Amino acid sequence: MRILLLGTGSADGWPNPFCACVSCAAERSDGRSRQPSAALVDDVLLLDCGPTAPHSISAAGRSLLHVEHVLITHGHPDHLHPSFLLSRDWVTSPHVLHVWGPPGAIDLCRPWVGPESPVALHAVEPGEILDLAARGNGYRVQVLPAAHSSGNGDVLAAEAVLFEIEGPDGSRLLYATDTASLPPATIARITAPLDAVIVDETFGDTRDHGTGHLDLGTLPGFLDALRTGGAVTSATTIVATHLSHHNPPTPTLRERLRPLGVQVLDDLSVIDTAYPGGRPPSRRLVLGGARSGKSVFAERLAATTDAVTYVATGGDRPDDPDWRQRVAAHRARRPAHWTTVETIDVAKVLDSAGPAELVLIDCLSLWLAGQLDGLDAWARLDRGQVAEVTAEIDASGAGLCAALARCPADVVIVSNEVGMGVVPATASGRLFRDLLGTLNARVAAACDETTLIVAGQPLAIPLSATAAPSRRR
Ligand SMILES: [Zn+2]
Ligand SMILES: [Zn+2]
Ligand SMILES: [Zn+2]
Repeated sequence: MRILLLGTGSADGWPNPFCACVSCAAERSDGRSRQPSAALVDDVLLLDCGPTAPHSISAAGRSLLHVEHVLITHGHPDHLHPSFLLSRDWVTSPHVLHVWGPPGAIDLCRPWVGPESPVALHAVEPGEILDLAARGNGYRVQVLPAAHSSGNGDVLAAEAVLFEIEGPDGSRLLYATDTASLPPATIARITAPLDAVIVDETFGDTRDHGTGHLDLGTLPGFLDALRTGGAVTSATTIVATHLSHHNPPTPTLRERLRPLGVQVLDDLSVIDTAYPGGRPPSRRLVLGGARSGKSVFAERLAATTDAVTYVATGGDRPDDPDWRQRVAAHRARRPAHWTTVETIDVAKVLDSAGPAELVLIDCLSLWLAGQLDGLDAWARLDRGQVAEVTAEIDASGAGLCAALARCPADVVIVSNEVGMGVVPATASGRLFRDLLGTLNARVAAACDETTLIVAGQPLAIPLSATAAPSRRR
């Protein structure tokens, strides 16, 4: 099951556009923005459709062409903005669009559906099981009662529901936004382990909100109940949604939620239940010139993972005091809990890494230098064996990329961007520059993200349409 997060924000979004609080200011200055919560499952099921969801889909370069079912949790305007039904009416499509939701939400849809509209409305009640067919596949949806009512007579909140969805591949998602903690009777209805949970965490450190939402104080109990019932296991991907400015800024929130096993993802992220953690392992290449800040940037990327293996490819060079000083400075900067391995056998490290880990390779240029030393390349170049050495380095690069492809861990690779300055004076210098340029291009094609660091500033390099299409997400 592939779940595209169209929005992970609260009704007002985060930042709230009218608000000057510290949390909103931090999100704004970091360029983050969350739209009201909604998700698209396998391109065929749309979970909630608030005012921004259709636009978020277009912004993600996707469409609603294949959506056959819209599951609405409740009629609050951040979850249901029924004008999308009019957009649907304006196009011809081979199939009917089915909209499922509590009675009040369905009533809100009726004025938008004409007698000839290719739309079918279905009111649902908690306890119902829906067998939905979409593009020849079957989805089984259990409708569960949300705990969204705060007893203030809000009928739309009182009838809110959650959806437990089993996909055609047998994977299972609990979509649980706009709810407080659930009573044991509701938990007991979720009988098998879930692959993914998308869960409300609206209120952060505000505890006296008196609403049917979760906060940082109540979320642990909500998850504990699911764990005790066996619905949530160590393999379940848990993602927070309906996030508001009552939360600390995203980087802090990530740190706070990590011990609970809860991820904070950006809008338009994808949860893919085929992978541990909900996504394929990432491959990121960080390029830069000397003293550009590339290592610091790479270390920052790695800092969001607990289990980091740092691969130093430069060797220890006991008779080079300058080098030893640099290595000592790098080492002092790294968190003490990282594992450091000094080797140029990078493939071996990649092969022994596990799925929850991150391997940081610093750096590819020293790895290349080590390979050349190992091949006794410089002496052989003097004997005119340029083609042979090039071919052997090429084979080493292919081996490295193959190890990269099969590694289940996230990988960050640092390399030098060379060849932009003066032409090296020596033949060996020119060959090294050429080999490294070729290697960088090859590794970049095997990565899903390449960043060039210039004067300490990161510059994201867009993936070309032809590079590693399987890695494009
Ligand atoms: Zn809401
Ligand atoms: Zn605010
Ligand atoms: Zn609501």
